Amino acid sequence: METTNCNLCGSTSSEDVRLIPDYLLERTQVVAQLVRCRACGLIYQNPRPTLAEMDAHYPPEYEPYADHTASKEPNPLLKRAFAYGTRKRTRFVTRRKSGGRLLDIGCATGTFLLGMRGMKRWNVQGVEPSKQIAEYARTEHKLDVFPGTLEEASFPAGAFDCVTMWDVLEHVHDPLATLREINRILKDDGMLVLRVPNLASWDARLFGETWAGLDAPRHLYVFSPETLAALLAQARFETVDLSCDIGGYVTFVLSLRFWMTARNVSEATKQRITRMLYHPAARLASAPFFWIPSVVIKRGAYGCHRTQASI
Ligand SMILES: [Zn+2]
Repeated sequence: METTNCNLCGSTSSEDVRLIPDYLLERTQVVAQLVRCRACGLIYQNPRPTLAEMDAHYPPEYEPYADHTASKEPNPLLKRAFAYGTRKRTRFVTRRKSGGRLLDIGCATGTFLLGMRGMKRWNVQGVEPSKQIAEYARTEHKLDVFPGTLEEASFPAGAFDCVTMWDVLEHVHDPLATLREINRILKDDGMLVLRVPNLASWDARLFGETWAGLDAPRHLYVFSPETLAALLAQARFETVDLSCDIGGYVTFVLSLRFWMTARNVSEATKQRITRMLYHPAARLASAPFFWIPSVVIKRGAYGCHRTQASI
């Protein structure tokens, strides 16, 4: 374990917020201490596992490493749910940028990259810190995926038209350094599309410590729209579009599972309820309540403001 300063303002002064157990891997003995920076309000884990210690928290069965593409997902309901999620993300990007070179950071098995490649207007690349999963994406899907961190990949300056990070920034040890590196490798008119769990969302308030957006101990940071905007400004990005306030469907179902785990609900019941919620009828009925919480950022000056909430 290691202790750290606030990544946003550098302050060492913080107050304890909450101890969060690992509900995802159902290891309630593993807890993460969340603290709030007294100077700027950023919520982060402190102390936290070192980069090397993090490996123990990402076992092969870690859900985002699962391949939900058509040929690999046996559950048709889950396949449809994930295909829908991927389509939403690819549309989100292509509505704002017509094509070019795209880098997906933390691409896992490459589901999103496959969606973008399928549009024929994008030259796609990925970065994935799990060497095993990066290798899988390379061999199984013939994707150009660098095994390691973004910094280790050392891409040339101004190389990309678009960089995407889906639910990744909250996992990295030094998000400010990561954002600065993204700024360096983007073209002058380049675009970063970023999705993080939103502390100001209604599901964060509803679920409290069992909100999947906390996912301890893998999430080292919990951003509010305000702290995220401030961090992006520090990395010299201009925020041009911020859409949030509401959680994604998969996050909602996961939060419900965490909630049931905290109350010792049996595995059979948890699976039954999860299956029911992934049924297309349930998904369709709830669609108006869920839309993608994303930020689109361009290089340049800064401008963004949202109300901050607390957990
Ligand atoms: Zn701070």
